[in-house]
Amino acid sequence: MARALRDAPLRVVYLDHVARWSGGEIALARLLEALDGDVEAHVILGEDGDLVAALEAIDGVTVEVLPMEAALRDTRRGQVVPGRLPFRTLSMLTRYVWTLRGRLRELRPDLVHTNSLKSALYGGVAARLARVPVLWHVRDRIADDYLPRPAVRLVRLASRWIPNAVVTNSVSTLGTLPAGVRASVLYNPVVPDIAPEPAAPRPATDRPVRVGVLGRLAEWKGQHVFLEAFARAFPDGEEQAWLVGSAMFGEESYERRLHDLANTLGIADRVVWRGFRDDVPAELRELDVLVHCSITPEPFGQVVVEGMAAGLPVVAARAGGPLEIISEGYDGLLVEPEDVEGLADALVRLRDSAELRLSLGQAARLSSQRFSPVAAAQRISLVYAEVTSRT
Ligand code: UDP
Repeated sequence: MARALRDAPLRVVYLDHVARWSGGEIALARLLEALDGDVEAHVILGEDGDLVAALEAIDGVTVEVLPMEAALRDTRRGQVVPGRLPFRTLSMLTRYVWTLRGRLRELRPDLVHTNSLKSALYGGVAARLARVPVLWHVRDRIADDYLPRPAVRLVRLASRWIPNAVVTNSVSTLGTLPAGVRASVLYNPVVPDIAPEPAAPRPATDRPVRVGVLGRLAEWKGQHVFLEAFARAFPDGEEQAWLVGSAMFGEESYERRLHDLANTLGIADRVVWRGFRDDVPAELRELDVLVHCSITPEPFGQVVVEGMAAGLPVVAARAGGPLEIISEGYDGLLVEPEDVEGLADALVRLRDSAELRLSLGQAARLSSQRFSPVAAAQRISLVYAEVTSRT
């Protein structure tokens, strides 16, 4: 593993406002695993949750919960209007920043690494007040199609003043930051826990083809597009549509709409609702094709790499992160976002050709090695060395 370019391990405090096992937090756990004890990592979370035990299990990582009042932690992006936050929220925020500043002054880390947009703001200010350099890890596209406009304005403005440096989860995300912000790309490490064995022809038996989506159920993730395309591709027959994931951030009404849609489309008996699963590799082994069809450009799309690493042919929307991950026709297929017909055609092509599934899946498995923990550890060690030597 890469070594931090100094004698003693770097002492880094990581910040996140949530402790749920969701995309950005899974990515943080993978990054800390990739660092493999090369930094002395202390994580401060704004709530207790599944993430705490997952992080504590990693070598060299300690975790602390500095509880944030729920009203502050759950403030929606749409409510973030600069100068117009309710007084109560503002005073909670000020108190939290001040407490965190005090904690950082006690800990005296070499660097603060923020893992979520909220922590970039409150944690960035706290780190500045504690005179600790701060690295923003931006995992969200700072764009009007992804965030409410006032939040975009606030983050773009803050990105010029608060962080000493920024890393983004993709070139696509990088492109949404203002010119002049010192930023570079750090792809999420994804590979080894997902891909234990080489890709094999799928399906392994004579059972009907299974096409799946993986990820939390949310309208912008486009599971309705998936169901519509599935119904169009396979109006009758025995193919199955698997949905792995659950509604996480207040999207329960969307989940109900998806069930209604499956009924309306007449495919309900062939849709398998898997709910949230801890063992994602086991789910992927059951599938023959993975679909990723967000209707808003995906900042990165860890799920796409997970599918590829598992040797699956992945069909993804031609926008955002997946464009950087998939080479069309070589290690996956791309279709226009929300193009139900295009996606249905791709599914039929894949259903009809085991050879195509196998060749895309095998190439995908190789391509996924780009997202290895070793590469991520080397990259982040260089970024850390650069930021700490400048400050
Ligand atoms: N995931 C999971 N179990 C599920 C559904 C999703 O562990 O049932 C994981 C998935 O494997 C991926 C993450 O949740 O690692 C979603 O990450 P991504 O960055 O693709 O999406 P986000 O939710 O952050 O937008």
